[in-house]
Parts: sequence; structure tokens; C-alpha cells
Amino acid sequence: MKVTFPHMGTLYIPLRLLFTNLGLEVVVPPPISKETMNLGVRHSPEGACLPFKLTLGNYLEAAALGADTFFMAQGYGLCRFGFYTEVQQKIMRELGYDCNMALVNISQNVLQNLLRRLKELSGKSYLQVLRAVRLALVGIKVLDDLEKLLYKVRPRELRKGESTKVYQNTLARLERASSVSELRRVGSEGLQELAAVSQDPNRTPLRVGILGEFYVVLEPFTSSDVERRLGEMGVEITKYLYPSDWVSFHMFMQLFRIFKEHKSAAEAARPYLAYNVSGDGLQTVGQTILCAEEGFDGIVQLYPFTCMPEIVAKHLLPKVSDDYRIPVLSLGLDEHSGNAGFVTRLEAYVDLLNRRKSLMGREAAK
Ligand code: SF4
Repeated sequence: MKVTFPHMGTLYIPLRLLFTNLGLEVVVPPPISKETMNLGVRHSPEGACLPFKLTLGNYLEAAALGADTFFMAQGYGLCRFGFYTEVQQKIMRELGYDCNMALVNISQNVLQNLLRRLKELSGKSYLQVLRAVRLALVGIKVLDDLEKLLYKVRPRELRKGESTKVYQNTLARLERASSVSELRRVGSEGLQELAAVSQDPNRTPLRVGILGEFYVVLEPFTSSDVERRLGEMGVEITKYLYPSDWVSFHMFMQLFRIFKEHKSAAEAARPYLAYNVSGDGLQTVGQTILCAEEGFDGIVQLYPFTCMPEIVAKHLLPKVSDDYRIPVLSLGLDEHSGNAGFVTRLEAYVDLLNRRKSLMGREAAK
């Protein structure tokens, strides 16, 4: 058996650790590239959303390297995510791959479903599975902490690209870590090295919230690496979707019926959107309001073209933007999104935010 899984940002690091720790052979798909996209697009239904096409592209590339067991989350709800695995399996079989889908239902009882599926796959005891899951969760937390600090340092760095280099070196070291203590040690070294990057203490970067659909917010290939580009334009970004937050909410808070954090975005959204539209649509609307109240300079919404939950949010955001006086840039992403046009839109947006900020500063000084 050779296990694989789709890419989503840096998640391949803890996922590879998880499976190797369970004694399973792992095939990490090649990093997402134009070829991955072309492969996924060629074999997907035309109207499928971008995450469907890219994850299918990952599977096909991994299958070509010998993978035969596809580990994937499965859920039900209002959006197309509920159909992903059925349709992808059918496509893979029609293409001649004898694949086994190792699915984990994430609609409820996530932790129990995950442990059960991993036990079935590996034949290990629950205790061994729990140890491997803990290792992966530590990896996820370490990666998220690094990313959060990177977003603070990058817009203040004196030598462009230095924080990115430190971050990438740390990722390479984390790829070789194989125990909880090693992960923590490399993670804390990475945090120290990032903090030591030379920064301009007088710079006050623009603050922009990155909101939208989970997959595209986490996978930089889909948005031409919007986080890095904004950071290098001097913008401090804040993301609200991190794998560690997802894990703590869906695996643990739901288990113990603690819903506080997600409720506040839902409560804020209520005058505009009073119910869950699936995906992250409700959170996008609510978090935009919370960011405006916290004094953010702008919001970038990332959404896959044809993504129903984010399209609902996108149509409400102009009203929210007017009411709360926060500029929102909505970027629809698909296989036709070109780098050049994308960068031009980001530059124009950052320019607008800078001019708006200095105008507001002058008005406040009068
Ligand atoms: S949230 Fe949107 S992009 Fe994600 S699976 Fe659902 S429809 Fe597709």
C-alpha cells in the first residue's frame, strides 16, 4: 500500500510524518505546478471548483508515482465538497487507476473518525495511532506559528526576501524532523531566526485581513502567493484560517461543545447573513466586520470561481464595505487567473490603501 494525500500549503509535512510514523509507505505528490493544474483541469467536469481540479491533479501525479491509497477528508453540506471524493474516485477508475479512497468524515466526530480510519489503514493499536496523530498536530502548530510570525516580519524587513529565505530554510529542516522534541526545537529556532531578521522599527505597515475559502487561503499556488506579494509590498496580513485552528475547533472544541470563537464572526454577520451558507461564506462576512472594528486597513477575499458560499459573501461585501468603511478586494481564482493581472490589481489596491491612510492621517491631524 502506498498512501498519498492532496497538497494544501505546508500540510504535507505533518501528513507525511503521520503516515511514516504509522509504518506506511507515503508518496507526497510533486509540488503543485502548471502541470498539476493542467492534469486536473483536463480530467475534471468543466464547472468543478478549483480545489477539486487541483486535488485531482495531485492524485493523478501521485498515482503515476505508484500511490494507490488516497487519503482525503469527506463531508456533507450545501457545497460541492460533499461530492468530491465520489466523483474523483470515479474519474480515477475510468482512467485505469485501481485506487482505494481512505476517507475521513469531517462533518461530525472528526477525531473519532480519524483515529478509526488510521487504525484500519495501518493495523496499529489506538495508542500508536494517537501518538502519530499527536506528532502531526505538533507539526501543524509549529508550522502555523512560524507562518504567523513571518507575516509580521516580512513587511518590516530591511532586505527584501530575507524573512522568506529564513522561513524556507526552517521548512526544509522541519521536513527532516521526526519526533515531537525535534519539531519543537526546529520550530523555536525558526521563530528566533525570523525575529532576528533586520527590520525597520519605524515602519507602520498597512494591515490587511485575508479571508475566503479555506483551500485557496491555505494553498499559495492558487492565489499566485498573495501573502508573500502583499508582504513584500509592505502589508502586514492576518489570516483567520489556519489548520491548527481548524483542528482545535473541529476535533476538540466541537467534541466538548465549545463554539465561542466561530460564533462571534457569525454574530457579527447576522444583520447581513443570518444563516450558514456552507464553506466559509458566513465567516468571510462576519470576520470582515470584526476586522473593520479592529481598525484594519483592508480585506482581501480569495474565492474559487464558481464557489457558491464565497459568491454569496462576495455579493454582501460591498454593503459591509460601505457601512464599515473598509475597502474590500475580492479575487476570483481559477485556472485562467494570470500572474501579471493579479499583481497589477494587488498593486493598485495597496496604492489605494496607502493614499486612503495618509488622507485619514491628515484629516485626523487637522
Ligand atoms: S467551499 Fe467553494 S470551492 Fe470549496 S468545495 Fe465548496 S464550492 Fe468548492
